[in-house]
Amino acid sequence: METSYDYLIVGAGFAGSVAAERLARVFDKRVLLVDRRPHIGGNAFDHIDAHGVLVHRYGPHIFHTNSDEVFAYLSQFTEWRPYEHRVLASVDGMLLPIPINLDTINRLYGWSLDSAALEAYFQFIAEPVAQVRTSEDVIVGRVGRELYEKFFRNYTRKQWALDPSELDASVTSRVPVRINRDDRYFTDRHQAMPLHGYTAMFERMLDHPNIEVELGVDFADVRKRAHYGALIYTGPIDEYFDHAFGRLPYRSLEFRFETHQTPRMLPAAVVNYPNDHEYTRITEYSQLTGQQHEYTTLSYEIPRADGDPYYPVPRPENAAVYARYRALADALPDVHFTGRLAAYRYYNMDQVVAQSLALCTRLTGVSRAELAAAS
Ligand code: FAD
Ligand code: UDP
Repeated sequence: METSYDYLIVGAGFAGSVAAERLARVFDKRVLLVDRRPHIGGNAFDHIDAHGVLVHRYGPHIFHTNSDEVFAYLSQFTEWRPYEHRVLASVDGMLLPIPINLDTINRLYGWSLDSAALEAYFQFIAEPVAQVRTSEDVIVGRVGRELYEKFFRNYTRKQWALDPSELDASVTSRVPVRINRDDRYFTDRHQAMPLHGYTAMFERMLDHPNIEVELGVDFADVRKRAHYGALIYTGPIDEYFDHAFGRLPYRSLEFRFETHQTPRMLPAAVVNYPNDHEYTRITEYSQLTGQQHEYTTLSYEIPRADGDPYYPVPRPENAAVYARYRALADALPDVHFTGRLAAYRYYNMDQVVAQSLALCTRLTGVSRAELAAAS
């Protein structure tokens, strides 16, 4: 007789894997987890490449969160390597710290301002707008047009094929501006990389007799044959509804990997190129993972319109289309949409984990704190 599952979960990234793990381990539910890719982990998937270097197949993934709950939850499945991310941006022939901070400005202009003088300078050059709506407003309103043009405008146009004035404020708001010398990319309470990588962490999450994983399998095929009570769907929401209201745009990237026989190539884990080249940034993986090896692998990210859907594109017209899909989704009692592609939100990994824990709370009636802590 065919196996019957309590849940079919589509997508083995953070959204699907967290839901599978909690429902199987804490609630004894039988789960079938499928992914059309040949691996688990979704966009956080990492693996050892042909030269023995641990790389992230879909670009640099740095874990950071202010949520004690999310960090404690994931800590059941991995040990951590403390890691604080730092990025340099290539501007005017120099490699300068980004987010913009005191050193960025002093080095860019050959000045020696202190924090108070820098704040006064920013206030002098800023062009604030009454209502901050766009990604241009955020930066020009804080540091003025010249710095916006050197660090943000061209990077954003390359990454999104849109001018910052056409994107919601939330996009460039991800990158703060500082008047002190803190050159970390993130300031979250928890900043760390899974000690043995993301894929190893996912393997431990999914290692449970109630979870069956099928890879290289599309939902369109599995839905015809699998018997299940409810569906958790973490793919693109417009695809689920056969693009009934048109396609939601998702920005894609091409990753070009390059290996060199030397332990170290870059002066920082990531170097951004706002104004030159077709790529936006170069990453050296060993600087993220801490791996010591005679070879090093870099990736170059080249933005693309077509390809795997990586980034929802935050702007009002897309939010309006998403709202129409969301209304259809909300009317389906036994189908639950979660994750970056299904929620059409520019979520970081920790936000996706939190969203899936919240979904399990709703599905089971157990409080979020109890659910995250249960082992
Ligand atoms: P995904 O990881 O996209 O997983 C969804 C899965 O569903 C995919 O594996 C897909 O194959 C599968 N799927 C979709 N449709 C179907 C179908 N019909 N049938 C079968 N399977 C299907 N976050 C951070 O916190 N820190 C970072 O440094 C960071 N860096 C990033 C860098 C890049 C280049 C990108 C693109 C993202 C980055 N993120 C980062 C965001 C992070 O990748 C996401 O928050 C997280 O991976 C989303 O998890 P998810 O499960 O929602 O989606
Ligand atoms: N950004 C920029 N210049 C930079 C870094 C970021 O203009 O040097 C803008 C760009 O629009 C980018 C957004 O800020 O898409 C968010 O940056 P983040 O580094 O968070 O991008 P992600 O890692 O999510 O691709």
